[in-house]
Amino acid sequence: MINPHPGLPELEYIKPTSLEEASKFLAAHAGEARPFSGGTDCFVRLRDGVLKLNYLVDVKNLDGTKEISFDPKKGLTIGAAVTMNRVAVNPDVIKHYSNLVEAVNSVASYQLRNRATIIGNICNASPAGDTIGTCLALDGVLNIHGMSGSKQIPLNSFFIAPGKTVLQPGDIVVSITLPVPPQGFFGVYKKLGRNVISDLSIVGVTVLGYPSKETASGYKFRIALASVAPVPFVASKAEAVLAEKKITPDVIKEAAQAAMDSITPIDDVRGSARYRKYMVRNLTREALTEVWSKLGK
Ligand SMILES: Cc1cc2nc3c(=O)[nH]c(=O)nc-3n(C[C@H](O)[C@H](O)[C@H](O)COP(=O)(O)OP(=O)(O)OC[C@H]3O[C@@H](n4cnc5c(N)ncnc54)[C@H](O)[C@@H]3O)c2cc1C
Repeated sequence: MINPHPGLPELEYIKPTSLEEASKFLAAHAGEARPFSGGTDCFVRLRDGVLKLNYLVDVKNLDGTKEISFDPKKGLTIGAAVTMNRVAVNPDVIKHYSNLVEAVNSVASYQLRNRATIIGNICNASPAGDTIGTCLALDGVLNIHGMSGSKQIPLNSFFIAPGKTVLQPGDIVVSITLPVPPQGFFGVYKKLGRNVISDLSIVGVTVLGYPSKETASGYKFRIALASVAPVPFVASKAEAVLAEKKITPDVIKEAAQAAMDSITPIDDVRGSARYRKYMVRNLTREALTEVWSKLGK
């Protein structure tokens, strides 16, 4: 239940100086300590009494968390402490990952994005996370430091349930790597919220498309959906429709219907399940049409 007398509870702020120290502390205090980056999710949940902790572990100054870098072979690596506003103005992001800029700028307000991070958005594991769809569609991989050293986890196997991920006690997400986008790609993010800024999505649709010799249609599309299932996910049946058939307005309609059929939304304060179903179909169709109008030229 929401605490009717909001205010941060007493807890200890821990500022480790190395990833090893941070992992050890988190593992030793599993269940009563969490890492945090911007704190825009953590502090609200702590204030409301939804999250109960004895320790908050600041991971913002640890190795690899502050950098954002682009490598023409490896792609873009965004550290856990890199704020959304830093991502949005980065020249490499603007040049190679313009759809990420769109997704990031759809989150709340400029003020919030001065603190909020993409890694926090991902680790919070909300079905409504606005930056997750783009990272899924780009086949993002999380770089993690844990008790047994470094490991990598593809984002598409990271989420288990709302608020639950495969992270183990002691795990810290250091960064995410987004591979170099395919040649000639174009992508969009369609967010439906109750108002234009500062609201979580009722439905979030990410669409990416690019020419491909591997498919019968000559194009590959990636479609990721948010706020319409327990976790954000890739609508692979809808993608398959667009891989197998020559792209026409009717095939786009068919793919949008397949996206609608793949979701399992709930009723909540932001929208009914029925409304979400129809809006997924409409927004997927709109997004595909927009992407196709660029690619098909
Ligand atoms: C007013 C308001 C409006 C909002 N609007 C939106 C919106 O429009 N769209 C949207 O998607 N979200 C929205 N949010 C939610 C939030 O701002 C985002 O999810 C944000 O990206 C969280 O990033 P953060 O760095 O602040 O996360 P934190 O609060 O620092 O952390 C979030 C979660 O991730 C975990 N975590 C953080 N860093 C790490 C790490 N390095 N390794 C492992 N776990 C980690 C924490 O333990 C916590 O569980 C809103 C929040 C507020 C308060």
